[in-house]
Amino acid sequence: MNVKITNKFRKLFGGKPIPLCSTCNYDWRSACRNLERPKVTECDEYEKRY
Ligand code: SF4
Repeated sequence: MNVKITNKFRKLFGGKPIPLCSTCNYDWRSACRNLERPKVTECDEYEKRY
């Protein structure tokens, strides 16, 4: 299941969300300037890495 959907369910049922960055296509410094990386659990820029 998509990790963003998993996190929505976890949030709904009181579970701990999974950090998104380790599976994100932009998980390196020059591609992502979000200072909270690598522990972001909600991100509009997230794109799954294949
Ligand atoms: S775009 Fe969002 S999910 Fe992807 S690495 Fe940056 S902060 Fe993490």
